[in-house]
Amino acid sequence: MAWQRIRKRPEDCIGANLQDYEGYAGTFAWSQARAMLDGLPGGALNIAHEAVDRHVDAGRGDRLALRWIGRDGQASDFTYAALRAQSNRFASLLAQLGVGKGDRVFSLLGRVPELYFAALGTLKNGSVFSPLFSAFGPEPIKARMTIGEAKALVTTEAFYRRKVEPWRKELASLQQVFLTDCSKTPPAGTTDLAAAMAASPDAFAIVPTAPGDMALLHFTSGTTGRPKGAVHVHEAVVAHHITGRLALDLHPEDVFWCTADPGWVTGTSYGIISPLTNGATLIVDQAEFDAERWYRILQDQKVTVWYTAPTAIRMLMKIGADTTRRFDLSKLRFMASVGEPLNPEAVVWGMEAFGKPFHDNWWQTETGGIMIANYPAMDVKPGSMGRPLPGVTAAVLEHTADGGIREIERPMAMGELALRPGWPSMMRAYLNEEERYRKCFAGGWYLTGDLAMRDDEGYYWFVGRADDVIKSAGHLIGPFEVESALMEHPAVAEAGVIGVPDPTAGEIVKAFVALKNGVEPTEALRKELLGHARKRLGPAVAPKDIAFRANLPKTRSGKIMRRLLKARELGLPEGDVSTLESEER
Ligand code: AMP
Repeated sequence: MAWQRIRKRPEDCIGANLQDYEGYAGTFAWSQARAMLDGLPGGALNIAHEAVDRHVDAGRGDRLALRWIGRDGQASDFTYAALRAQSNRFASLLAQLGVGKGDRVFSLLGRVPELYFAALGTLKNGSVFSPLFSAFGPEPIKARMTIGEAKALVTTEAFYRRKVEPWRKELASLQQVFLTDCSKTPPAGTTDLAAAMAASPDAFAIVPTAPGDMALLHFTSGTTGRPKGAVHVHEAVVAHHITGRLALDLHPEDVFWCTADPGWVTGTSYGIISPLTNGATLIVDQAEFDAERWYRILQDQKVTVWYTAPTAIRMLMKIGADTTRRFDLSKLRFMASVGEPLNPEAVVWGMEAFGKPFHDNWWQTETGGIMIANYPAMDVKPGSMGRPLPGVTAAVLEHTADGGIREIERPMAMGELALRPGWPSMMRAYLNEEERYRKCFAGGWYLTGDLAMRDDEGYYWFVGRADDVIKSAGHLIGPFEVESALMEHPAVAEAGVIGVPDPTAGEIVKAFVALKNGVEPTEALRKELLGHARKRLGPAVAPKDIAFRANLPKTRSGKIMRRLLKARELGLPEGDVSTLESEER
């Protein structure tokens, strides 16, 4: 069905940072965005200075930077000055303990204030911040901390005991483990963070990082092989700042709530950095999704800009607009969504429930910041991700017969979404994986791995992934990581993992397993495998369903054909099966 365009009225555009998309995009240069920031003497640039200290230096230290709402509903407030002091304490602590420039500091935390102190303190110290998702099990954590050569970790005692302690001695680089909630008998080799921070000075001279120095390490998943560590540098803050201004319409007086988990890139770029560089107040809720609670937060905290995700919006839709309307959400000015396709129904439901649309935007771990967006002063076409950010050149590409690649000019033709490299938050490497990084580029383009179309007005439409990576409840999951965990079970001979459509989560992870000779495919074994995967991988990554097969479809070279598993599961045409192993046909 054709969805009606949502026209923006003049009153929707009052005060918007981006009033005239074409005019602004036509003359935009990244140097303009850089000029909105301070920098440090000698050409240095540090994300945490721009996010926090800059505001304090300019006399805005008593403005509220962070309001943290605990699970019990109690709020704790941190002004920009307080955030400066706390991040300084963490930076001082790292420096005292010999964690230095370029060293990797990991976090394995829920949304707690220490996460923000640690992230910003790490950056001030010139170290590299790498957040992990707290719903990961021990395997994904170990893999990422090993690839990242973690030197320090900030976590809770419970996470440490369950997810890190069992393998810690295998990671020689890990020297410091800080616990945010130390019991009277903390595990050996850990430090009580609160006590250590209290004993550290609250003054710290920010390490003068160069714009190209590594600042953030975000892990993402590919179709094959180990997780990839996308390297981002301090210069990324230029994009964090301007994308917050243009795509989220952030103003210093805004109360901004980003619901992303801190373990994923959105939780850092927009859950910490962008709102702070823009001088806004950040709302952080410790609790997990709960519709009533969320509406209450929007209402009571007078949230003005809300950045959330399709899975959450679909859960709110299920409960219905009547619930939305019970709350006074009159302060809410702008709603944005990211991470997975936002169904046109959800955009339109936003109009019904909130009186305003959700503005979908698109980006990925590698791009470090929003690349394509719907802006406040631009009509929304439900189902479209919007138009490229000023300063970003996007295209839809097709592969040519001679192995080349070219731009498709025809409107609504499907191809691979690509971006012209050169924006400041572009990843600079996959850590220690030159070849995988190099493969992301062709013909002067960065290839996103997504399929998309562009219409005659320059709006982009997401079609799907070009690879086998799974998006479940906004989390990118590499099938290989799941298959590897299943293969560790003694009963499993082969495993193939795909995403199958789910009305709420977008996709859920399903595994197909071939058992070793003589092993019976019983229900008890199926449950055991589900439990095994959950324990190893954590609930966010583990398959929700496992089906037994006598054989899995493989190519002649022995690669499991996930595409075929998926086509069969969904009753879709099997496509080209010329490479299928003969006995499988
Ligand atoms: P991640 O690197 O985990 O942030 O995942 C990035 C991927 O999520 C993209 O390559 C897309 O496949 C998907 N994605 C992100 N935003 C959107 C969106 N607005 N619409 C559709 N897919 C999206």
